[in-house]
Amino acid sequence: MALVPCPACNHPVSEQARACPSCGHPGSGERGGVARVLGNVAGTYISATSFASLVLGVVMFTGFSAIMITLILSHR
Ligand SMILES: [Zn+2]
Repeated sequence: MALVPCPACNHPVSEQARACPSCGHPGSGERGGVARVLGNVAGTYISATSFASLVLGVVMFTGFSAIMITLILSHR
């Protein structure tokens, strides 16, 4: 079990550690760290995309509803 310097703060961190105990920098050493970072990036990208389409859908629906309500009310 070797100690490697944290890439963020140079604090000696165990290779097995998931995150630096000093600054919380993730994945210091070990392949799992890189995979975890990539997974986090992919997860963030996917959730950001779905969140954007969700917001867009809500905005479109609200705008459409507002236009329809305005048309219906103005035709009375
Ligand atoms: Zn650190």
